[in-house]
Amino acid sequence: MALDFQTSVIDIKGIGPARARLLRKLGIESVSDLLRHFPRDYRDVSKVTAIAEASLGDAVLCVQIRHNAHTFRKKGLTITSAQANDKTGSVTLIWYNQPYMAGNLKQGATLLAIGRLEYRFGELQMANPILESPGSSIIGERWLPVYPLTAGLSQRLMHHAVAACLHDMPKDIFDTLPEEIRQENGLCGLYEALWGIHFPKNAEELAQARKRLVFEELLLFQAAMASVSSRERNERGVPLACSNEKTEELLGKLPYELTNAQKKALIELASDMRKPAPMNRLVQGDVGSGKTALALFVLLWAASEGYQAAMMAPTDILARQHCRTAERFLAPLGIKTALLTASQTQAERSETLERIKTGEIQAVIGTHSLISKGVEYKNLAACVVDEQHRFGVSQRAALLNKGVHPHVMVMSATPIPRTLALILYGDLELSLLDEMPPGRQSIKTYCVPQDKRADMYGFIRKHALSGGQAYVVCPLVEESEALEARSVEQVYDDVAKAMPDVPAGCLHGKMPGKKKDELLQRFEKGEIRVLVSTSVVEVGVDIRNATLMAIESPERFGLAQLHQLRGRVGRGETQSYCFVMLPEGEHAAKGRLEYFAKHLDGFELAEEDLRLRGPGQFLGTRQTGLPDMKAVEFAGNVENVQKTREVLQKLLKGGYGERAGKAVMEAAMSRYGKAFDEIAMN
Ligand code: ADP
Ligand code: MG
Repeated sequence: MALDFQTSVIDIKGIGPARARLLRKLGIESVSDLLRHFPRDYRDVSKVTAIAEASLGDAVLCVQIRHNAHTFRKKGLTITSAQANDKTGSVTLIWYNQPYMAGNLKQGATLLAIGRLEYRFGELQMANPILESPGSSIIGERWLPVYPLTAGLSQRLMHHAVAACLHDMPKDIFDTLPEEIRQENGLCGLYEALWGIHFPKNAEELAQARKRLVFEELLLFQAAMASVSSRERNERGVPLACSNEKTEELLGKLPYELTNAQKKALIELASDMRKPAPMNRLVQGDVGSGKTALALFVLLWAASEGYQAAMMAPTDILARQHCRTAERFLAPLGIKTALLTASQTQAERSETLERIKTGEIQAVIGTHSLISKGVEYKNLAACVVDEQHRFGVSQRAALLNKGVHPHVMVMSATPIPRTLALILYGDLELSLLDEMPPGRQSIKTYCVPQDKRADMYGFIRKHALSGGQAYVVCPLVEESEALEARSVEQVYDDVAKAMPDVPAGCLHGKMPGKKKDELLQRFEKGEIRVLVSTSVVEVGVDIRNATLMAIESPERFGLAQLHQLRGRVGRGETQSYCFVMLPEGEHAAKGRLEYFAKHLDGFELAEEDLRLRGPGQFLGTRQTGLPDMKAVEFAGNVENVQKTREVLQKLLKGGYGERAGKAVMEAAMSRYGKAFDEIAMN
């Protein structure tokens, strides 16, 4: 049977409904998904070695199992181990958190164990080896792939499934990259590339395969970007004067002096916006570095010259807060602002829409409501996107398309690799806020074991009674998970019981926007001293008097998210605290939480996050608004990005002919178009 990429995996030999379900957990539904599930490592299996002759490192051993495997728990890990030997020596095979491996390890069985041989605890060990039957056709001239897996799936199953697909694949399989592009850039065909990435014969073949797949991914991704976003080079925007008087006026209204980093960024922003080419600038600065103030100037400069400006934030709470800030500082300068979110009533909304259309409103602040269909601007000249990583590519594009080449400033606390910035924004300028407002103290962070919960509540209570305020944040939990993580209601009950003399409030995402805002304002005014909340306060919320943050079930959050949460405190000059509750029992997340407690720098934490979770997760939807990219490793691909950008420019101009152009665009949209649409905000 000739292979069809769209065929469901269930039609592959050896894969039934149960395995198909497991594969779906890895995002694999079709043959194409399976073939694009790339190995994370390889084993050289060209020859089987005797234990006595094997050197440490990659090895293939042919061994007999001495006793049935046994499984036990240690330090929160489930360990399965078995003794095995050949005529020359013995080895301990050991698996972490794969108890289902025990089924393969019956006394007397002979099998091939493929993995890294190590000398540990006075014996030879092989950790997480792949098992194959002796004489398996998989052993031989090609390397063996090691795939990222999910519980219940074995490397062996993947090997056989992938090999079956590759064998069925016709040699002249349709190639997403037109011949001319391949030749120009020295890239192999898709057929060779797929064999080479899964079962390379040698390092050279693997490198060739990788080169081609990375190129393809970068090209298709940028092609898809180009088709959803109308932004091109050399377009004309609206040059603004960004007058010094206006700037001084607003500076005079701010209750603080700008930091040097803010001043520098301000000069960069003004100089961009004075040019006819539209600004495209990313302002990156750690949580609390004062990015919002800069946004006010961008709004001001556009609005005070007869244009409109829009500022988009990822959550209702944040949009409302920004709107209040904008009103407070811009209204006195004669600028009319308005809020637009999905939680407004129909009547409010239609009125606001009308006033935006006529141009009466000069600065609109809102959530993704700003980009919904009915919203028409009179003359949108500047856009600000706060917490840009929380928006999808098409959402950003949609905002820009509401104006004619508006100036754009995106803000983020999440550092992104330069490669990624290039892909996402093209020629993006960067302003770095590498300085905190003066007087900030570092936030004392502690890991709190469960049996110290009462003490922690005692500390929070004292803190609240002596003039401080605190957040207690819980992760969002589905009802089915209620046993594992404590819901915000449960925690609120506990808090209310533990400190009956402290006014507390409970905030969660499902509340109507107005209600959330009311609660938050009461917290800001100090009427509520302890706010128990879901992670809706994760981004942006700015309440200076709150100086204590306690995080429940912190193992559910990534490091970057924890850092954002911690960033809700320490925004003034008072000593702030952050408590993370350690999960019950021995838990793999503990190390990560302890790392978090010791590190305060967002950049370091982001790097560690990237290292722990791998680029797929880190650079996935939540962090960047990017769909998963599989072949690309972002760290060192700047050159490739540039090269593929050039190819794309030529392609868009028809340089490879109409047919090639169409084929690439179609492939691009079929791979990424849907992901762009699906990337929605939380
Ligand atoms: P972020 O960069 O995380 O968005 P914000 O813009 O919310 O940070 O600012 C954090 C806090 O610091 C706010 O309360 C803001 O008013 C204050 N702030 C901003 N700039 C300065 C400054 N130059 N001096 C003192 N406080 C500042
Ligand atoms: Mg902010």
